[in-house]
Amino acid sequence: STNLLRKLFEAVGSENVVQVEETVTKLSKDYYWYSPVLDKQLEHKRADYVVIPDSYETLKAVLQLTVKEKIPVTPRGAGTGNYGQAIPMTGGVVVDVSKLNKVVEVGEGFVTVQAGMRIRDLEKKIMESDQELTIYPSTFVKATIGGFVAGGSGGIGSVTWGNLWDGNVLSVKVLTMNEEVSELLIDGADLLDYIHSYGTTGIITEVTIPIKPKSNWVQELISFSSLQDVLDFTRYIAEDDQWKKRLVTVVEAPIPTFFRPLKKVIQEKDEHLALIEIEESDLTRLKEEAKKFHGRSIYTAEASSYRKGIGISDFTWNHTTLWALKNDKNWTYLQNFFSLDDVHDQIGKIKKRFGDEVLFHIEWLRDKGKLIPAGLPLVYYQSQERLYEIIDYFNEIGASVNDPHTYLLGAGGWNLQLESIAKKKKENDPYELLNQGKLPTHLVKETIDQ
Ligand code: FAD
Repeated sequence: STNLLRKLFEAVGSENVVQVEETVTKLSKDYYWYSPVLDKQLEHKRADYVVIPDSYETLKAVLQLTVKEKIPVTPRGAGTGNYGQAIPMTGGVVVDVSKLNKVVEVGEGFVTVQAGMRIRDLEKKIMESDQELTIYPSTFVKATIGGFVAGGSGGIGSVTWGNLWDGNVLSVKVLTMNEEVSELLIDGADLLDYIHSYGTTGIITEVTIPIKPKSNWVQELISFSSLQDVLDFTRYIAEDDQWKKRLVTVVEAPIPTFFRPLKKVIQEKDEHLALIEIEESDLTRLKEEAKKFHGRSIYTAEASSYRKGIGISDFTWNHTTLWALKNDKNWTYLQNFFSLDDVHDQIGKIKKRFGDEVLFHIEWLRDKGKLIPAGLPLVYYQSQERLYEIIDYFNEIGASVNDPHTYLLGAGGWNLQLESIAKKKKENDPYELLNQGKLPTHLVKETIDQ
């Protein structure tokens, strides 16, 4: 209403409120359209207002107003999430924190940074002290650090350092939606109520993450004619601590042919590909070992060209799906954990049942210290029924799926402590204003009724 708009202007200044209709629409969306299921469900969701606070005080002021007026709030970083996490289900105000983007402190082994800072900018900053990030998503150029903590899982670096839940967040500061909006400092086990909880328990304003001494990363593409060989080779590299690495990816043929910028280096249609980022000093040995597994080095980018132009991580994690979509818009994807010792068998079964309807993409990663071949398989979409038939089959054979076709927290997997998150929400957001509709209603209701 015009009344509310007037109050918003009063609280935060008109310069912090988005007034262009198309921009409001744009900032109400994320990459939900990766999923044909979510694409249908969320297409028309839109915020009534978008506020982009230019300071911590302005952020606090808009939150205080929304509490007073009982208006729904959906936090937003860069909006690169894939599950509609940042989409307002019930209108209200989208609060875009991307202008809270200052580094607070770079220490030895840690950095404290405001939530809205882009991960790539953060990386540049910490490299000034010869340090680097542990883990980051393949969207690091755009994505914010707060959005990663609140809505992501893992990425480049996870093969060595694990996911967000594995010590890669040291503490966060959050603003709560209590009568008096207040700040909390969260660390230790309490972080589990905030990591990947879509901002349902609080607005993250500051993040402290561990950082490590900088390495010299070389990017390497190795081609294989057998899927078994590429899996065995990459498992060996991923498993053995003697190799210093931050990315070990496998894509099945013909996925490499979807990578248009690599057209010159990828010639054989039926070749599978390993995409690896490894310490420069390990490169010669890596190439020798690859030969033992019948692998052929087809491209090396020396350490001096790291972060210059397109990198191989632009073809990994969920970027793989992006290249497939550019090739044919019917591709979509799943997320799953294969079991380390049954991965060949599980892949064989899925191939037999679904043929080329499913193409394998594996990210080797550590989860609570355990090495896991994590799948981001491409699925040629036919219908929602068929998609869930495929998901059911994956689960049936123990290749457990984290469903990326739902915006509901917990329904997507990741073993979240949902009851605890719901309880924390009751404390921090008693009017249930934060990211409405994302926490399954039975959880919200149960805790409210108690
Ligand atoms: P947003 O999308 O803006 O927000 C994510 C969630 O967090 C939303 O629920 C939002 O409401 C909430 N949120 C945002 N900021 C805050 C805050 N300050 N306080 C509280 N809540 C907040 N993800 C991975 O984990 N690893 C990958 O490798 C990866 N690769 C991807 C590749 C592609 C091509 C795409 C499209 C997505 C990929 N993603 C990946 C998903 C996503 O890009 C990342 O998780 C990213 O870190 C999200 O950051 P963002 O700033 O865009 O967050």
